[in-house]
Amino acid sequence: MSRSVLVTGGNRGIGLAIARAFAEAGDKVAITYRSGEPPEGFLAVKCDITDAEQVEQAYKEIEEKQGAVEVLVANAGVTRDQLLMRMSEEDFASVLDTNLTGTFRVVKRANRGMLRARKGRVVLISSVVGLLGSAGQANYAASKAGLVGFARSLARELGSRNITVNVVAPGFVDTDMTRALTDEQREGIVKQVPLARYAQPEEIAASVRFLASDEAAYITGAVIPVDGGLGMGH
Ligand code: NDP
Repeated sequence: MSRSVLVTGGNRGIGLAIARAFAEAGDKVAITYRSGEPPEGFLAVKCDITDAEQVEQAYKEIEEKQGAVEVLVANAGVTRDQLLMRMSEEDFASVLDTNLTGTFRVVKRANRGMLRARKGRVVLISSVVGLLGSAGQANYAASKAGLVGFARSLARELGSRNITVNVVAPGFVDTDMTRALTDEQREGIVKQVPLARYAQPEEIAASVRFLASDEAAYITGAVIPVDGGLGMGH
């Protein structure tokens, strides 16, 4: 069965690994990108999720070329780390606008087709940091915690329509986002992780694909940690 899948931020990092996992399973996969050359093998649509008009245009293109989105993976996200005393309102608002409100924009638009089809799978990419907290990441952690309340509300709202909404909460994954950290920060993180290493993006992708599969039909409103044990008990 080939489904119409959309992965936001599917042009690199975790999103690209997720896009590849669905494509390998035979699904039709659209990815968003903002600039440069997108990777080949997908329907690449230019879309900044902070702009509702671009989100609308992206969905129109996807619907025309591969059909209404049946599986949405809201993966696009940013960090703008700063201690609270130095964090500007712009630092806070811009991270919320991408990670939380941006996710709202893409989920709301996907929901239209899913309601019509009376089925759908939504997976949001949060972070271990959303529930554990992280000094210097109050904006990011707030946005990622917000995704949990958002997903659980939608799980209740949309469950009777056969639409599941789940969250994957990765720990530290080897991507551009964490390569921006200093060696000292990276070593400090590894010391806290029971599995004593970073995750590979493919390890996050596997859980996302599972949540979108028939085997996961009875899972909704769940937060699945894929964090090497870092967040145990949260
Ligand atoms: P990267 O920084 O490698 O990639 C971020 C992706 O998000 C890029 O594809 C980027 O597109 C896209 N993006 C950012 N802002 C926007 C926007 N406004 N509109 C559209 N796309 C946007 O990050 P990762 O792959 O590491 O992270 C992916 C997700 O996983 C994020 O939500 C992140 O918070 C989360 N995560 C990551 C962890 C990690 O350790 N790496 C841990 C826990 C969660 P572009 O190429 O155009 O910039």
